[in-house]
Amino acid sequence: MISALCPTLSVQHGLSHKLSHDLSHANTMALACMADTVVTLTNETQLDNFMTGYLADNDECKPLFVLSGGSNVLLPIKLHATVLCPQMRGIHIIAQTQDYVDIEVMAGENWHDLVLHTVAQGWYGLENLALIPGLTGAAPVQNIGAYGVQLEDYVQHVRAYHLPSKTWQQLSAADCQFGYRDSLFKRAPNTWLISCVGFRLHTDATRILASYGDVRTVAQNYATQQGRTQLTPADVMQAIIDIRQQKLPDPQQLPNCGSFFQNPIISQAQFSALQANYPDIVGYPMPDSMVKVAAGWLIEQAGLKGGGIAPIFTHNQQALVLTNHSPYLATQEDVANAQSHIAACVHDKFAINLAREPVWVNADATIGQSKYGV
Ligand SMILES: Cc1cc2nc3c(=O)[nH]c(=O)nc-3n(C[C@H](O)[C@H](O)[C@H](O)COP(=O)(O)OP(=O)(O)OC[C@H]3O[C@@H](n4cnc5c(N)ncnc54)[C@H](O)[C@@H]3O)c2cc1C
Repeated sequence: MISALCPTLSVQHGLSHKLSHDLSHANTMALACMADTVVTLTNETQLDNFMTGYLADNDECKPLFVLSGGSNVLLPIKLHATVLCPQMRGIHIIAQTQDYVDIEVMAGENWHDLVLHTVAQGWYGLENLALIPGLTGAAPVQNIGAYGVQLEDYVQHVRAYHLPSKTWQQLSAADCQFGYRDSLFKRAPNTWLISCVGFRLHTDATRILASYGDVRTVAQNYATQQGRTQLTPADVMQAIIDIRQQKLPDPQQLPNCGSFFQNPIISQAQFSALQANYPDIVGYPMPDSMVKVAAGWLIEQAGLKGGGIAPIFTHNQQALVLTNHSPYLATQEDVANAQSHIAACVHDKFAINLAREPVWVNADATIGQSKYGV
């Protein structure tokens, strides 16, 4: 065990080591989970010191797993790993001109609080990403996105610790290989620990993106109430907060991990064939004659809005979100059962496979395919 291997390290450097740590309250899906060891990191030196004591051959050390806000993970009932929790705090200005400000944000900063802070400072760009749960260090992992903006639009660099080589590296945005809900970090799980993200934000209060859904209409109401005609980034942010609060269940009230299924991408030919039978099918054109289909619509049409297998059900207003009705008791297996049922119903009706979005964590901290075949 790490704590047995590194007892002096723990004392000398103030690392917090606990055995049989309960993570049921540390994941927004509120799945029951006990982990062998949890190490909370409040500065980068602690990580250096911890990794110095971590055996190079990994013979006796548990595998490592990085956990931040737990809003995009499905944890196992027993996690035989050392869970590293980056909690470093701080927001620092690196450079500032009339047009932009460069900031570095430490991994443990709450993402939504960061968005509120930047907009209050007159630093714009992140406002469309308001109310996404989690911590800043996790945001590059799946290149978080919402309402037409993706994290990569504002990232300058990422400072991360490469766990296998025990080295710190500064990665440019290009190095991060961002894609749609994807990045280098996502493709190489448990390889990197992101400690800091650098952003370039602009100061032009007239530059806004409000073309998605009802955003412009709701934002316009705020501006009108304050006697303005020109929309500001703060109006857009407030509109997005309101829309999200109406649309998405609050994990603290009803545990969930946001969108559970990815929107499947099918060929134009398959889409056209489906459209003949289902004229209301929702699809968005993609490159190479492909079409992205709204997974929520498919689930709803399969008769599963509010459906599932107890205690995991789709949300009754947003079928794409799976909710846990037995917080801290339900397990990964319950999620797998509901996922299989929903995916099978959708496949039977539309011949489309649904893929999961949140990160499935196995008992040995490996990521991906579950033992339940989903
Ligand atoms: C209600 C709700 C709404 C959501 N809406 C959106 C949305 O609109 N858009 C969107 O993109 N996502 C959305 N999400 C998903 C989720 O909030 C994001 O993916 C978020 O960035 C996860 O952050 P976290 O701190 O909770 O990460 P965690 O769940 O703790 O971790 C997620 C993954 O990142 C890895 N990781 C975490 N921290 C680090 C780090 N510092 N270094 C390296 N790897 C790390 C973990 O190992 C894990 O693989 C939503 C989730 C919920 C519950």
